[in-house]
Amino acid sequence: MPFSRIHLPPGEQPLVVATLLHFRRQVPWMYTLLIINAVALAYTHANLAPRWLTHAIPAMLILLIASRLFRWLMPPTPDMLTENGAQRVIRQSTILGSVMAVAFVAWALSLGAYGGPYEQGHVVVFVGTTVLCCLFCLTHLPGAAAAVGTLVSLPLVTYCLVSGNPVFVAVGINLALVTVVFLVILRDAHKVFQGLVMSRNALIVERQQAQRLSDENQQLAHTDPLTGLPNRRFFFGALEALLAARGTAADSAEVAPFCVGVLDLDRFKAINDTYGHVYGDRLLDAIGHRLALRAGGAVTIARLGGDEFGVLFDGPAEQAEPAIAALCAAIHTPVAIDGMEVTLGCSAGIAVYPEAGTTAHALFDRSDYALYHVKAHHRGGCAVFSPEQEALIRVEQRVEAALQVASLERELEVHYQPIFDTRSMTISSVEALARWRSPVLGEIAPATFIAAAERMGIINRVTLILFGKALEGLAALPDPIALSFNLSAQDLMSPATMREIVRMIVATNVAPRRIVFEVTETSLVTDMATAREALQRLRSFGVRTALDDFGTGYSSLCSLHELPLDILKVDRTFVTGMATGSGRNMVSAIRNLAQSLSLECTMEGIETETQLIEISLAGYRYAQGFLLGRPMPIDALLMTMREQTMQLPEATRLGVRGAA
Ligand code: C2E
Ligand code: CA
Ligand code: CA
Repeated sequence: MPFSRIHLPPGEQPLVVATLLHFRRQVPWMYTLLIINAVALAYTHANLAPRWLTHAIPAMLILLIASRLFRWLMPPTPDMLTENGAQRVIRQSTILGSVMAVAFVAWALSLGAYGGPYEQGHVVVFVGTTVLCCLFCLTHLPGAAAAVGTLVSLPLVTYCLVSGNPVFVAVGINLALVTVVFLVILRDAHKVFQGLVMSRNALIVERQQAQRLSDENQQLAHTDPLTGLPNRRFFFGALEALLAARGTAADSAEVAPFCVGVLDLDRFKAINDTYGHVYGDRLLDAIGHRLALRAGGAVTIARLGGDEFGVLFDGPAEQAEPAIAALCAAIHTPVAIDGMEVTLGCSAGIAVYPEAGTTAHALFDRSDYALYHVKAHHRGGCAVFSPEQEALIRVEQRVEAALQVASLERELEVHYQPIFDTRSMTISSVEALARWRSPVLGEIAPATFIAAAERMGIINRVTLILFGKALEGLAALPDPIALSFNLSAQDLMSPATMREIVRMIVATNVAPRRIVFEVTETSLVTDMATAREALQRLRSFGVRTALDDFGTGYSSLCSLHELPLDILKVDRTFVTGMATGSGRNMVSAIRNLAQSLSLECTMEGIETETQLIEISLAGYRYAQGFLLGRPMPIDALLMTMREQTMQLPEATRLGVRGAA
């Protein structure tokens, strides 16, 4: 039997099932041969033996075989493919095969009593070839082969031996030997078959294990271990898949939209800093669990890292926005951990395909941009990236391009805005404010180009150029007027920049006390520990530090007293809010807080005399604003100072003195 031709169906199979399936393929040949041989034998004895022997009995036997043949030609039943079912069928086949073999041999040998030596020879040939053929076909049922071989060969050999005909005797002996050799060969062949099936099964099991491992690895590689949600890699894979499914149809108006959302937890960093990372992790896990319950169908949710989650919504913005807002609402529900309840906020930005972009990078960037604006303007909200923001991005890109080729040393300037001591109404310090007139774009607001320099990673260079110029300005100012200089978060994070700043101060020989470095709350939030360390180092050198725009950021109040600060600069939004009673109370409360932390207080954005009087009455010693002086070049400032006092109305000055 050529084993290379053995056909085995796919998948792991018990040996007995494999045997049965292989046997099924051979049975029809065996039965067909039996039928043809039986017809031939009946035919050669048609006129010699009685009709019941040449017609009735062979017809019955052939009918029986035909019915069996029909059964085998039917597709296998599910039961036959089970171990027990296959076992049963094989057992039945062995018994039935043996019974049929006996019946056929008995019939053939009874025909031997009729006719001459040729007809008797035909009987011997019929039985001999039939038994050999059946043995071949029973290769994989050694039990059945042995039974059939014995049941057929034994009577035939006996028949030959007792016939008295030397030729038949020789044929009988020959047949007996051939049968024995056949059975031995078949047994070996079956063993090889068994080995083949078993090694194939082992191979399949191995392959399944390898597949399972690979699936598990795949699963792990795409899962965030903390929350169990899909991770960043999965998110971008799914986003690419969505884009690929949309194909190149992005130009067509009918292309189905989908949305990319970015969710960012508000106040998470403060909670993490206050209660520790373990608590923070458990909080994230709880949030992840809530989000996972809302994923599925059109919504895919992944943890992108930190406290940021990504959402893919396979549908238009009108459906995505409420769905994502619902996710934010779910996050907003209080979380109880170890009996302590915390409430987190959540902001979300959404970008819609294809309007906002047709690449994963563009869509994610746009949703992140929308999120950034939500966080800056209406924290806790959810907004879709708008065409106005697209225009803003274009402006930013133009600013970045102009900044890239700008001659910073030449084009950057510093203006100085006076900060007044409201008791003496004299200038106590000046704030250095950057100015850039681009030859390409004209005057650019500092908030715009400073942010661009931060994105471009050139802020440290910009800071050092500006600081150099600001120190020149300070040198022109009389002692004890101080210089307030704004540092960006990236400056605090850069030890080289910090070192250079100190070196520059030393080089100008100016008293460190005359320098104040302003940092915003946002810059502290990025990496509180490093910022604290940098501020500490500056302070130990003798310079002072100020927290700028106080009240607009989101660092927690409790971390305020841990920071090495000297001055609190209260954001100008509080001045405009002073029109109401609660606004005034807030301004007083901040002043009291600053006092309790031994911080000096400066109120920013004083534009009216009333405001100046009110903040003085509230106990604010220092004030800054357009009323007292706009940012101006050093020459203009010096001229103003030469005029000694600012041109304030008499009433205001009296009011201020009254407060002092
Ligand atoms: P800031 O540090 O809060 O600076 C005060 C800003 O408020 C200045 O805007 C100033 O012109 C403006 N201002 C002063 N008084 C009033 C007032 O009475 N009413 C109103 N409405 N505004 C007033 P400017 O010069 O446009 O600077 C904007 C921001 O750009 C600054 O806010 C600061 O965050 C940043 N910036 C400016 N120069 C630098 C710098 O050299 N380095 C860094 N890192 N940031 C700078
Ligand atoms: Ca400032
Ligand atoms: Ca400020």
